[in-house]
Amino acid sequence: MSGYVSERVRETPPSGIRRFFELAAEMDDVISLGVGEPDFSAPWAARTAAIDSLERGRTSYTSNRGMRELREAIAERVERYDQQYDPDDEILVTAGASEAVDLAMRALVDPGDVVAVPEPSYISYEPTVTFAGGQTCSVPTRAEEDFALRYDDLERAGAADADVLVLCYPNNPTGAVMSLDGLREVAEFAREHDLFVLSDEIYAALRYEDDHASIATLPGMRERTVVFNGFSKAYAMTGLRLGYALGPSGVVGAMNRIHQYTMLSAPTTAQYAALEAIRSCDDAVGEMRRAYDRRRRFVISRFNELGMDCFEAKGAFYVFPECPPGWDDDEAFAEALLEAERVALVPGSAFGESGAGHLRVSYATGMAELKTALNRIESFLRA
Ligand code: PMP
Repeated sequence: MSGYVSERVRETPPSGIRRFFELAAEMDDVISLGVGEPDFSAPWAARTAAIDSLERGRTSYTSNRGMRELREAIAERVERYDQQYDPDDEILVTAGASEAVDLAMRALVDPGDVVAVPEPSYISYEPTVTFAGGQTCSVPTRAEEDFALRYDDLERAGAADADVLVLCYPNNPTGAVMSLDGLREVAEFAREHDLFVLSDEIYAALRYEDDHASIATLPGMRERTVVFNGFSKAYAMTGLRLGYALGPSGVVGAMNRIHQYTMLSAPTTAQYAALEAIRSCDDAVGEMRRAYDRRRRFVISRFNELGMDCFEAKGAFYVFPECPPGWDDDEAFAEALLEAERVALVPGSAFGESGAGHLRVSYATGMAELKTALNRIESFLRA
């Protein structure tokens, strides 16, 4: 990379997911179970609202924090998770949850500060900490615990010395969820060691067996937690780039301080789509959730049948099976499978060391393709 580029950027490796997909993109007839993106389009009513806003010429900036009506709708929506936030100063509408993650890191991290990041984890946390000048401390979670984060995991990894703790449940890449009871342990650790928590709840609406629970609702946690959520996953609106942050006014205000200089406001057209999505698209979300759930059950039982142990992921749209017996290198397995059978899965080690020996499989793909992909994996294992 050019010597003009800053050290922080030069030292950040390209995404392990992208690298793998560049390989796949060069081949024909590949079934990709790799991308973390719904195969559905956004509900029609949300798309119509976006079109309508354009027809009416609503093409200006909105207020920095996002349209007031949208913030009010978000405040009402998140009450279903027992989250209560003031639309005036505790909600910030952002360009995707991605922007919210970046703003929170920059708002909270001073040079040398430490952010504890449980692994395996979504790939954006570590780079955004680096760009903010901080350091990460990885906290491995364990397959035996179905990748839920435990008090002991935090202690063992030295997270007591961190300043900030990231949480991501339902989890990308494992599909793991955490109950309110499980979160109590994490909350206790955060309070004992005075950690600020960033809770990425973008998959909150995609929980299949029970309701989503947020750490921010536990005693003493609201004032030390910022929650990220958004429209990309639940409403299949990834390309509209709309998310939000919820949290105490001091930290959300600091995030808005950065946002007002670097983004001004989240995309206006997308804000109209999001408002309509909240108002009228519950049924469409329910239908997508039921479709994901059918696929989830199918892929889990197929992987287990094939001898690729797969714990019962209960959220998001990923499962995280183990490599089959005889293969412990997930990258080598993913490459060989791609080469021989044209099925693209993401090696688990792309999400941190504790993901090694696993594969991330997205079931945000049609049932017919999933069946073909699993049959191809079966042929590969037989060969
Ligand atoms: N957090 C997690 C855990 C994700 O999986 C993703 C998307 N892959 C994001 C945040 C970013 O979502 P958005 O499209 O809202 O920026």
